[in-house]
Amino acid sequence: MRRIYLDHSGTTPVDRRVADEMYRFLIGDNFGNPSSHHYFGYSVKQAVEEAREKVAHALGASREEVVFTSGGTEADNLAIHGAVTTNLKKGNHVITSAIEHHAVLNTVKALGKQGFETTILPVDHYGMVSVEAVRDAITDNTTLITIMHANNEVGTIMPIAEIGRLTRARGIVFHVDAVQSFGKIPVDVNELNCDLLTISAHKIYGPKGIGALYIRKGTRWKQTLMHGGAQEQLRRAGTENIPGIIGLGKAAELATAGRESESNRLKMLRDRLINGITGGIGEVQLTGHPELRLPNHASFCFEQVEAESLLYNLDLKGIAASSGSACTSGSMEPSHVLLAMGMPPHLAYGSLRLTLGRDNTEEDIEYFLATIGPVIEELRSSW
Ligand SMILES: *Cc1c(COP(=O)(O)O)cnc(C)c1O
Repeated sequence: MRRIYLDHSGTTPVDRRVADEMYRFLIGDNFGNPSSHHYFGYSVKQAVEEAREKVAHALGASREEVVFTSGGTEADNLAIHGAVTTNLKKGNHVITSAIEHHAVLNTVKALGKQGFETTILPVDHYGMVSVEAVRDAITDNTTLITIMHANNEVGTIMPIAEIGRLTRARGIVFHVDAVQSFGKIPVDVNELNCDLLTISAHKIYGPKGIGALYIRKGTRWKQTLMHGGAQEQLRRAGTENIPGIIGLGKAAELATAGRESESNRLKMLRDRLINGITGGIGEVQLTGHPELRLPNHASFCFEQVEAESLLYNLDLKGIAASSGSACTSGSMEPSHVLLAMGMPPHLAYGSLRLTLGRDNTEEDIEYFLATIGPVIEELRSSW
């Protein structure tokens, strides 16, 4: 059966060139511990530092500012815990938004339960965080603001650089989850005015279980979360995931080298998809911002359709897609992002997310558009 993968925001296949580099660190002589003082350690240490340089270069950062973690989730946790722990004497107020990834949102909520003051900012119906709302929420007690660069469910791109100007003027640490934007739109830590920034390898054709946190030089930092050895300049203890780090380095290099032309290609496919769906099917709306959205991201809410059945029926036709709903204890819960955008629950239950990637072609889009119409019609006829 023809299989079409339209879930690149969920994860991406590992690029062949990434896998080839990783392989060299899984077999043969490249097995050393980079902390060791002998040939085996030194050579691996050098490869790790080259990978760190590639990640730094892709972000407009310098090598010492990149800390490898076990993924985007850990980098988000590390950013938040590191910033609030280091600045406890200054204050205990954290600001975030209602549409963050759970790696950020649940971490901030957990801090709230521990006695931290937390503000979870609302968003508009495009899923956009307003700069004014951030400004109004800042108090003398605020030590950390964490806002994502682009939303994973609706693709909306946030006014990060402007928020960064605010936090800089007030001396507040600013963390940005750039897992979805990295490799698709420019991500430069100096243009974004952020102090901390999260990326993850498996969203950019790298392996799962590896990510990085950018920590701006001069950001006061205490070791939190992972206590142990002196790895990663005392910012993240534990023997490094060498093949993962090598893979992230290569994936970051490839993601930035071909970004512009690939993003333009994806944008055209995305717009064909959006126009085909909103023009060809009744009672459907695009979710997220119509223009300020990721180039590979198309998301919708359908009337009289249940996401679970829609995904199941698309999968039967060989189409892998996703929805904003999460399966919690056996039942589908509408997405916190769509609800925060003011989407009525009955519509939020009918969400569909299509995220494009390197392997998608025009034929994929045409096949999808030819398939979705009848599927929706059938689901609605038995509503
Ligand atoms: C996928 C994702 C994460 C989590 O990254 P993992 O490497 O899977 O832990 C965090 N934030 C966003 C926006 C994501 O899309």
